[in-house]
Amino acid sequence: MSLNCDIVMDLVALYHDGEASKTSEAAVRDHLKECKHCREYYRQYGVSDPATQNFNFSSNGNYSDLAKQMRVRRLWTFVAVLSYVSASLCALIMLLMRIRED
Ligand SMILES: [Zn+2]
Repeated sequence: MSLNCDIVMDLVALYHDGEASKTSEAAVRDHLKECKHCREYYRQYGVSDPATQNFNFSSNGNYSDLAKQMRVRRLWTFVAVLSYVSASLCALIMLLMRIRED
């Protein structure tokens, strides 16, 4: 299935955001391989969008990196909360022991 350039340019936005159907995606990809003009257009489209500047369909990699960063950040938050809670608990226990000694 070969598309003409106007259709491809309409689909590029969907394709770029990964929201095109499998069929459209394959057709756009095939067309981009063959058509220098549309490839250039697609490259420009990618550059104008600061969130995903990489041509070469590598946005999945970026998303998984982001997810990893968020997991690490969540882990550190958990560790911080945990150490705060255990420090408070220790202080409380020491206080109770001191009261009992009196
Ligand atoms: Zn074309």
